[in-house]
Amino acid sequence: MIWTNWARTTSATPVRQAHPATEEELSDAVRRAVREGHTVRAVGAGHSFSAAAATDGVQLDLDRLNALHRVERDPGTGNALVTVGAGIRLHQLNQVLAERGLAMQNLGDIDRQTIAGAVSTGTHGTGARFGGMASRVRALTVVGADGEVTRCSPTENHDLFEASRLGLGATGVLSTVTVEAVPAFDLHAVEDVQPVDRVLEELDHLVDRSDHFEFFWFPTARKVQTLTNTRVEARADAGGPVSAGRRVRRAAAAVRTFIDDEVLSNVGLELTNRTATTFPAMTPALNSFAAQALRPRTYTAPSYEVLCNRRRVRFRETEYAVPRAVVADVLREIDGWLCSSGENVPFPLEIRFAPAEDVWLSTAYGRETAYVAVQQYWRLPYARYFDAAEQIFTAVGGRPHWGKMHSRDAEYLAGQYRRFPDFRRARGAADPDGVFANPYTRRVFG
Ligand SMILES: Cc1cc2nc3c(=O)[nH]c(=O)nc-3n(C[C@H](O)[C@H](O)[C@H](O)COP(=O)(O)OP(=O)(O)OC[C@H]3O[C@@H](n4cnc5c(N)ncnc54)[C@H](O)[C@@H]3O)c2cc1C
Repeated sequence: MIWTNWARTTSATPVRQAHPATEEELSDAVRRAVREGHTVRAVGAGHSFSAAAATDGVQLDLDRLNALHRVERDPGTGNALVTVGAGIRLHQLNQVLAERGLAMQNLGDIDRQTIAGAVSTGTHGTGARFGGMASRVRALTVVGADGEVTRCSPTENHDLFEASRLGLGATGVLSTVTVEAVPAFDLHAVEDVQPVDRVLEELDHLVDRSDHFEFFWFPTARKVQTLTNTRVEARADAGGPVSAGRRVRRAAAAVRTFIDDEVLSNVGLELTNRTATTFPAMTPALNSFAAQALRPRTYTAPSYEVLCNRRRVRFRETEYAVPRAVVADVLREIDGWLCSSGENVPFPLEIRFAPAEDVWLSTAYGRETAYVAVQQYWRLPYARYFDAAEQIFTAVGGRPHWGKMHSRDAEYLAGQYRRFPDFRRARGAADPDGVFANPYTRRVFG
């Protein structure tokens, strides 16, 4: 069996795949693999661009471990602590939470990933006060190389917890994840088109005065699309019976969303990218057109519907976390390179923000962060563009997203993370024989 990731940037031939339906079956699958001398790797939805999930050993697919286990109240914050099977997809989790009047505090662009895959690679959204998904994890259960199940949290097996809540599955297989949820909320979304110079000049103001700010920049275009989302109380009738009027409003909103998200974003993007692939000389004009084609719009909807979108156009991506204070300079440098190199890039850059975090391997560890996602249509070459961007990022101490394409190794990364030695110690203690290793973890962790 050949396994390939979503972006088609990596593939592997696992010796076998297992689909455990219970924690016991998961433990047995690990024990059997070790007995037979195989390495083990859990796979989520295969949405990492890097080879994080690839293995020629035993691949564990946790799709069947997707149940809601329990909802408790955190005595400290009053928020709900929700324990789910590690293989639950984010769209399933969002639904489970919504049915209970709850939501994730923040989410990334899509909801196809598993919770385990998302936290293990440091998946993040945007918002100067709202951190990545691993920062919301409050407890885990981890299946070790001996098949034993260990519960860990900030107060129980602390180092295993820190190394497992964002650790590429290198300490073991997560079987359950406990996240801190918040009361359900809506987002008032404002999408606009603004001159790039103004956005870069006013960046701090734009980021700090809103809950969730980000922008998309089509290479060489002088306008960018800004998305500003403000948290508002969930509508009181959100979970109640649906009236005829509300059904009509919902249907109208769904049609508008379909036109904006599917026709303009996905179909339009595929079309401009195909055209740019065949006629590269048209790319600057197409980018400039694309930057303005997305109409300004405002709407209000449940948080997860606003934050997560369908991304149907396949692409490749590298993304770095850089100190927020230097992101405008970083972007001007990338823009300079794109303008002078003439590289054919019809895919937008995406720029997002995060607060400083304390998760050991969070790309936002210890500093206010800006994320710059450099993306390229999958039919076009990416290496020269990604290399050039990587040089710009690494010159300012950038940290690559663990689940996206990059060329960094353990030596570089050790210099970027103060808790790297602690992570390595915890990993060594949890998996001394490298049962859960693969070539990617060997490269990035040593
Ligand atoms: C279209 C698209 C949009 C994206 N948007 C964003 C975004 O907005 N923000 C962002 O930060 N990232 C984003 N990503 C990246 C993505 O969120 C991460 O790469 C994430 O890890 C993918 O989750 P997955 O379930 O597919 O995990 P996989 O890619 O299958 O696995 C990722 C890692 O998790 C490990 N793992 C999986 N399950 C377990 C388990 N049970 N126990 C231990 N380890 C496990 C794997 O071994 C691997 O190391 C996007 C990716 C795509 C393709």
